[in-house]
Parts: sequence; C-alpha cells; structure tokens
Amino acid sequence: MNFLKMYRTYRLMMRAQWLDRLKIQEIQERKLRHVIRHAYKNVPFYKRLFDDAGISPADINTLDDLEKIPVTTKSILQEYGPEFLINRTMVPTKLKTEHSSGSTGRPFTVFFHSDYVYVRNALFLRGLRAAGYSIGRKLLLVTDSDNASKHWLRWRYASIQDPPELLLEQVNRYRPDFLYGCTTSLRQLAEYMRSTNLLGFQPEKIITTAEMIDAPTRRFLEGTFKAEIYDFYGLTEMGLVGWECHEHNGYHLAEDTTIIEYLPIENGDGVSKIVMTNLELMSMPFIRFDTGDIGIPGKRESCPCGRGFSMLERVEGRRLDCIQLKDGRRVSPYKLTCQLEKLQGIARYQVIQEDYGTFTVKVETGKRRVTVRDDEIHKVMHSVLGNEIKVVVQKAVNIEPTSGGKFRVIKSQVQEA
Ligand SMILES: [Zn+2]
Repeated sequence: MNFLKMYRTYRLMMRAQWLDRLKIQEIQERKLRHVIRHAYKNVPFYKRLFDDAGISPADINTLDDLEKIPVTTKSILQEYGPEFLINRTMVPTKLKTEHSSGSTGRPFTVFFHSDYVYVRNALFLRGLRAAGYSIGRKLLLVTDSDNASKHWLRWRYASIQDPPELLLEQVNRYRPDFLYGCTTSLRQLAEYMRSTNLLGFQPEKIITTAEMIDAPTRRFLEGTFKAEIYDFYGLTEMGLVGWECHEHNGYHLAEDTTIIEYLPIENGDGVSKIVMTNLELMSMPFIRFDTGDIGIPGKRESCPCGRGFSMLERVEGRRLDCIQLKDGRRVSPYKLTCQLEKLQGIARYQVIQEDYGTFTVKVETGKRRVTVRDDEIHKVMHSVLGNEIKVVVQKAVNIEPTSGGKFRVIKSQVQEA
C-alpha cells in the first residue's frame, strides 16, 4: 500500500463533494472521455459493443452523449469470459478480485487494478467520515470478506457467518465506536440482544449496508443500540456509491467516480432503473451498467449540509423483486412494504409472489402478545395489488433466513419476460 497515493486520492475526493454542479459535471465528462477511450482500445467487449452500435469514442464527449451507448446488464457480461472484459494491457493474475452476487446465481468476478483499490478505500472512508468517523476511532466491521484486521487503524473484522451470540461477544470485547455491517446481521444481533435481555456495548454510530433498510428496521436498530444509523449504498462494481450525511435526507452520490442515470421503467410508476458508469475502474470498465436496482432520484440541492453531489432519495430494491401483475402493471416492492409496515404485531415479514396471481405472506410474530390478524394482511395486499390476487398468510415465530446472509422482503418467482 502506497500511503501517499492513498492520502492524495482521499483528499481529492473529500474536496470534490463540496464542488458546485458545473465543476462536478466537468470532472465527470473529463473522466468519461478517458474511460471510454481506454475501454474501446483495450477491452474487446466494448470494442465490439461500440462497433455494433456504430459509434466511436469520438462521439462521446458530454453526459448527453451517454445515451448513444447501449446499456449493459450483468447477464450480458456474464456471457463473456474475463478475456473479453479485462483490459488487455493488464495482467489478470496481478489484479485484485471481488465476487459479486449474481441474481441468476451464477458467480461474477470483478477485477480491480491497484490504483482503483485506493479509490475504493477512499470512497469508503469518505462515507465513514460523513457518519462522523475519524481516523483512530474504533471500528468493527461485520462483513463477508476475509479481511485481515487493520490494527494500526483500529479496525477489526467479524464475519456475517458468525452467530449473534458470537457477534455480541465481539462487540462487547472490542467496544467499537462505530459498528458497520450488513443490515440482516445487525438486525439478528439486535433481536438476539432483545430476546435474551443481554446488554451490548453501545457504539456511537451504526452503519448498515448491503440491503435496503426499511423504516421499522432502522427504528429497531436505533432503539436497541441507542445509536444513530447511517445507511450505505454500495455495489461491487462501483464501490460505495451512496451514503447518508447527518441530515439523513437520502443518499449523497459519489458523482466524482460514478455517473448515475435513471432510466424509465415501463409502467414503473415513478420508479426508475439505476444505471451507472464507473469513471475510475480501468481494469474492467463498467459503462452504462444496469445495476438491477430501482430507485427514486432525490430533489436537487435538497440537502442543507452543502455537499454538491446530487442525491438519491432511496433505493426501492432490485428490479427482479418488482411485482409484475397480469395486467402488465409493475409494482415497486416499496409500495407494499410501506403499507404492511403500518400494521401492528408483525416482527418481520416476507412476501413471496408464487405466480402472477398468488402471494404467500410469511409473518414472523415473535413472542409478542399482539399478533396481526390475517384479514388485516389480506386487506393491505388487495388494496395495493388489486382484488384478483390470491393471498395465503403463514405465521411463524421465526422466518428462516435465506442463504447468503441477505434477507429479501419481497421475493418474486415470476420470471421477467
Ligand atoms: Zn447532506
């Protein structure tokens, strides 16, 4: 690790977030031209993509030109081997790799060159800083990667595979100022603490990541840890793209390293596809990459903190989790979760769309005395999705967690046409 390089990258980024719109756009367009030229020259996939679309790098100069480039999805990239996707001036065995979870269940590996690793670290650090972190504070990260503890930084790692009792032990032993981890792991930890009445050390701030956090989970974590929650929105292909500042007004977007576009979804009801271009990753470029996430852009200049980066109001989940109805309507998962969360007596729930017209609602009641009534759930489901659907309610004390550590509130088994 070259500390000077790391520090320079970090300092540039810390400054960039306060720049004005014009300056940010200038940076984006300069970096865009650079990444396009390199991708065309050195990455066979993009050479072919551009040639087939009848465009050349010279055609792409401004953000408005982006729409000339076809959008790429993960499943398209998965059809090509690394030899088509990796910059051929680089040696694949010298690159760092990270695996990205594929919605199709097929593995997908992303290759990072060493300079990009600095960018990635700096992105993460910038997000932490917005949550009040400073170097020297104690941080415990609950992640799925096997990172060596950075003792000099006072960073320790725990695994999302660790059961809650072991996590609690680690929190109490290390007493971190900041606790970072995927939402499901932290939620399970909090549930364990509540159910056993075991007290945990209270960190100053909790940073959640890896899944969209709903309002009840946020309140539950806040209440259990007595700590402020900051949510991070990151992707293997882009690094930390969105993070909250102390205003909690949505997510500030890393526009100095990423271009974020919102593309309309047919019958999408105000929700858009989130498409991104990575402006720094030269070893394996992602240009107009459909993230598979859907969301709502934030309003311009909506955050009083003064950061110049535009905002993402929220991520509503993965497009694959959208509920597609027989009449062609697509309902964002958020619509349903908002309504269900208003009901009393639900500890946790999961909605599974079995086919176009059949839904199973699994409800975890926990050990509460008040339990939601089936007809209340039926009523909500019908009000959001119409009266033609069939609803089955299943109640259990616990909903089994899905493999991989991520919990999906809405799961649609209906394949997208
Ligand atoms: Zn802000």
